[in-house]
This record gives sequence, C-alpha cells and structure tokens, in this order.
Amino acid sequence: MIEFRGRLVLLDIEGTVSPLAFVHDVLFPYARREVGDFLMRHQASPDVLRALEQIARDSGLDSNGEGASANLASDSDRAAWVSRIHALMDADAKQTGLKWLQGLIWDEGYRSGELKSVFFSDAVESIRLWHQSGLRLRIYSSGSIAAQRLFFAYSDRGDLTGCLEGYHDTTTGPKRAVASYQAIVEAAGLPASEILFLSDITEELDAALEAGCQTAWVVRPGNKPGQTDRHPTLRSFAEIQLS
Ligand SMILES: [Mg+2]
Repeated sequence: MIEFRGRLVLLDIEGTVSPLAFVHDVLFPYARREVGDFLMRHQASPDVLRALEQIARDSGLDSNGEGASANLASDSDRAAWVSRIHALMDADAKQTGLKWLQGLIWDEGYRSGELKSVFFSDAVESIRLWHQSGLRLRIYSSGSIAAQRLFFAYSDRGDLTGCLEGYHDTTTGPKRAVASYQAIVEAAGLPASEILFLSDITEELDAALEAGCQTAWVVRPGNKPGQTDRHPTLRSFAEIQLS
C-alpha cells in the first residue's frame, strides 16, 4: 500500500493500465490482417496516400518516385504495397509512415466496434474513482496521442476519456529522459512533488524521480522481469491510498 497526497497521476499505458499482450496479440495482428482490404477500400484517401508516401520516404524509396505514384486501384501495385508493409511489420520497424498507416487501420477498427482496448480492471476502477475524487490524470505513452485517445475512448469498459485532462507522447520527449518529465510538470502547472508517475519500466521511473516526481513501479502479469529498489512496487492500483 502506498499513500499519495499529491494532485495528479501520470499514467503509462502498456504494461501499466493494459496488458502488453493487447498490443502484440491484438493490435499488431489486426493491422497486419486488415491492411490489404483497407488499402482496397481507401484507394483515394488522402490520409492513406500520405502514409504510403511517408513509408516510401522512410524506406528511402522516394527518389524513384514510388511513393508519389502509389496506384491502389491496380491489383498488382496494391499487392506490392501490402507485401512491403508486411515486411516492415514483421521487422517491427519503428517508422513514422508505418505508424500513421497502422493508426488509420486501428481508427477504423475501433470505430466499427471490431477493436476494443483491454484494461486491467483495477486500473479502470481507480481511474474513475480518482477522477471522481478530484485527482487530475494525464497519460504519457510512446504511442501517438491520436492512438492514446482511441485507446481510452473505445475500451472494453466504456469511454474513459472524460477522466483524463491531457496526453503526452514522444513529441514531448523520450520516455527515459528527465527533461520529458520536467516538460510534463511544467504543462501540468504543479510542483513536481504533487505528481505521481506509474510505469512498468524502471528507467522511465528513474527519469521521473530525478525530475522530482513521485513514482511507483507497476508489476503486471506478462511484463518483462525487472528489479528496482528506488521505487515502491504496485501489483494493483487499489494499493494506492489517497489521503
Ligand atoms: Mg509501459
């Protein structure tokens, strides 16, 4: 049990409020499976074409104009794109264009009801309870802010976005950098000591602690094993007592 007297809780997503398996076993396979059909149905979508152009740029293919000439009406061109995208996904490429395209595919999946984000129950219960108690809540995740909003809007436990006052992604800075937490503290307009950061990654917690925040290490089923003596350990958000 840890006691928290501050004003704001900053939450990581994967491995903290949601099982790592949701991303790896549900979201990524969904995008891989749907991409062919998605490109066929959105042949003229400017967002889709922009993502493909970015994928071509990320892969250094832009010089021969391949990105600009994406012709999704042609079965063979589309098949070539699908196999190129599958290869990037299989290599787990952390590329901007691929992220954009995956985001568009997930957006459609969430809105159609085919995808629902999965949360640990104690996380949902505490998020609602903390919000009702007047505690402020923000998110800090490496997934894009657009993806974070979808994640909280289309959960298996309903829409949680009303509980959240703000979202931060890597545009604020890397998750293991002290400066990122200093920027979040500044955005929140509170002393750092009033903020509690919850994450499954000890290096992120070390950076937040150095920025003056309170921290707790979240240990969940399916997380990578770790070790720390700098941060209190939580197995459930119910172990946090507001005082
Ligand atoms: Mg995490």
